[in-house]
Amino acid sequence: MDKDSFQNLMKNGKSLLVAEGYLFEFERRGYLKAGAFVPEVVLEHPELVKQLHEEFVHAGSDVVLAFTYYGHREKLRLIGKEHLLEVMNRKALSIASEVAKATGTLLAGNICNTTIYRRNDPDTWQVVRDMFKEQVIWALEAGVDFIVGETFGEFGEAMLALESIKESGEGIPAVITLAAPGNETTMDGIPFDEACRRLEEAGAAVVGLNCARGPKSIVPLMVKIRETCKGPIACLPVTYRTNNEYPTMQSLIDPDTKKQAFPYDLPAQCCSRSEIEEFARECRDLGVEYIGLCCGNCSHYLRIVAEVYGHHAPASKFSPDMSQHFMYGDKTKFHQYFHEETARAFKCA
Ligand SMILES: [Zn+2]
Repeated sequence: MDKDSFQNLMKNGKSLLVAEGYLFEFERRGYLKAGAFVPEVVLEHPELVKQLHEEFVHAGSDVVLAFTYYGHREKLRLIGKEHLLEVMNRKALSIASEVAKATGTLLAGNICNTTIYRRNDPDTWQVVRDMFKEQVIWALEAGVDFIVGETFGEFGEAMLALESIKESGEGIPAVITLAAPGNETTMDGIPFDEACRRLEEAGAAVVGLNCARGPKSIVPLMVKIRETCKGPIACLPVTYRTNNEYPTMQSLIDPDTKKQAFPYDLPAQCCSRSEIEEFARECRDLGVEYIGLCCGNCSHYLRIVAEVYGHHAPASKFSPDMSQHFMYGDKTKFHQYFHEETARAFKCA
């Protein structure tokens, strides 16, 4: 893609597929600690971060998102490694840049909820602005095509992120997505469609929701956002089986133990591939232009979204084809025994 692609795609109603979910994937693989959730893997195993970027592009991602999520000053202070802040951010950006260049995909910077924003305490607002500013400048210096500001439960903090990108980003487009908690409004009481409309009017190139909610509980909010917003909208759910009763991954209960599933037992609540396919169809039909998956994302899910959206994914070469399966496949190619006796034995007839 050329460097004007992002704005052109978004202005012309085209779609963009964006892989997220790096934190959870590296936690699952044993390179990142659940709890603080700081992307130390960027410095400790940069080759693995590069590989995951490449894998997500292989599965259809049009964008390489620099892995700076929770790589901000407050999170690094929390684990006593604030001195690594700049080197970690610059390294994450340079890894992502290398992959974006090699694969012809877009490069995105990433800022997120700071965990220190307090809506009634203006003193925190300037600290938050400063945290955004330094990350925006590093992203800009790395040559990003746009900057993602994501996972904001508070509308006020999302606006600070947008303002920081506008002030320090030298015109770089901003994608701002909110994390929707269990109620119908942001934590500061604004309906999500209204919050997105205000962000759009304030200059965000794309607005929408990411993280927290899974497909079934995020889509109803997207319907309202589509009705309210004029420009491109974004939807990047987690890949867990949330619903009306348990709308966020944080609220999910393990069906066997009846205990909180987040984050340790979330694997018991993973979406099926069919659910991801249904979600992608709903978003495509709704007109969600900026589509992706957040925590829990894996390449086999992402490839499905790419295929539903009609995007090229090299990994589609290996999309399932059960016609060649000895038990379920083409009956003319396999002995009848395998279809009947084996199926009975495996209790799948
Ligand atoms: Zn997430």
